[in-house]
Amino acid sequence: MERYGTFLPEESKALLTSVRNFVDREIMPVRMQLDESREACEEVIGKLVKLGMQRYGLSPKYGGTPIGSTVEYTAVCEELARGDSGIATEMTCPEWLFGPAMRARNKIVLEKFMQPFCSDERHTACLALSEPAGGCNGEDPSQHGSALRTIARLEGDEWVINGTKRWPGGASVAEIYGVLCTTDPSQGDEGVALIYVPDGTPGLTFGKPENKMGMRYSDVNADIYLDNVRVPKEYRASGPGEDWKLFRAALSFGRLCSAAFAIGNAQAVLEIVIDYTANRFYKGKAVREHSLQAAMIADMAIGIESARAYYLSVASMFDAKGAFGDPGGQYLAGKATGAKVYACDVTEMVCNRAMELMGAYGYCKEYHVEKYLRDFKIIQLWEGGGQLGRLEAAMSYYPVP
Ligand SMILES: Cc1cc2nc3c(=O)[nH]c(=O)nc-3n(C[C@H](O)[C@H](O)[C@H](O)COP(=O)(O)OP(=O)(O)OC[C@H]3O[C@@H](n4cnc5c(N)ncnc54)[C@H](O)[C@@H]3O)c2cc1C
Repeated sequence: MERYGTFLPEESKALLTSVRNFVDREIMPVRMQLDESREACEEVIGKLVKLGMQRYGLSPKYGGTPIGSTVEYTAVCEELARGDSGIATEMTCPEWLFGPAMRARNKIVLEKFMQPFCSDERHTACLALSEPAGGCNGEDPSQHGSALRTIARLEGDEWVINGTKRWPGGASVAEIYGVLCTTDPSQGDEGVALIYVPDGTPGLTFGKPENKMGMRYSDVNADIYLDNVRVPKEYRASGPGEDWKLFRAALSFGRLCSAAFAIGNAQAVLEIVIDYTANRFYKGKAVREHSLQAAMIADMAIGIESARAYYLSVASMFDAKGAFGDPGGQYLAGKATGAKVYACDVTEMVCNRAMELMGAYGYCKEYHVEKYLRDFKIIQLWEGGGQLGRLEAAMSYYPVP
């Protein structure tokens, strides 16, 4: 656990060790199979549920296991992603989905929808933010929800929701959906509503799963169509103004976890390269013993260690209980987003260098580097990508309109 340095509290080490051992034993031997079928993913996820990972991060009042700290949680994200970042994404989705309801103490949503996730039975969750006209639109703080086109109208005691969501992980297979909508685009932050919609609600239908470059079966992505979907008004996370803050906090936390997911990929690739280049020779010496290649490997390691230190230091700010503002406030959101942008740039460099150091063997499926590159790439693109990400990092210093 020395990789996490002094950031990781002593009491978190046993959990991290058990996750790492699980990944080495149950994921590493089958990691290419996870790229080939949903069944292989479900088998691993089932074992992670038994290990208690589904309830990790959910409120203990409903049977969940509280996280020791944000530092601990993000380190768990890295360890899982070192095995497979699609599986890591799916295992952390329940916390992402129910985070707003937990912060809002929405008893009805937590009892009815979150409690089942605290059992040893497998359950599936989806947080639907992206829309066809632009995934980044809803995530851009300067637009204050005004670009959202999924509309929720209050009729008596029910929300009536109409719109389309595109891409969300878990779409078409989840039991419960968190749908980001607006009650009125002209109301800005006040109009933003996060509403929980259970599968099977009349008017809720799905497109076909998307055919993707990476996370091919570990994350199921599809369109979600909402056609006069009706749910009780209590299924809204909180209320006007509050839902916007809850959504921003969830996005900020999600981006911090994405930094850890990216570095999990990079760490795995570094390990593959160090092993491979010990047993490949030119001019009578192992590739990694030549100073040119050793310097390339050093750059990869330095990038990974600095990106890890960056996300852990932001995680420690999240743990400082308000000393740096609200998790969804501009300061912490900028830091979490900056950590994600940097971690993704580093991981891209690490994957490219790995292929150069391994030649054709880096490019072929046998050594798994190409899978890590394909899986990682969407982490860089989602939650606003590197461009909106950079703007948000700047926004923690000064307003960007
Ligand atoms: C495997 C996978 C899993 C996903 N999981 C989820 C999920 O769980 N939930 C969910 O809601 N969505 C999810 N998504 C969707 C993902 O978050 C979006 O695709 C992403 O946010 C980008 O949106 P877009 O593709 O529509 O790009 P666009 O929004 O069209 O962006 C195009 C380009 O413009 C840039 N850009 C756009 N707006 C701005 C701006 N205001 N400032 C600066 N640059 C900008 C972008 O960075 C990008 O370079 C997932 C997608 C995939 C493929």
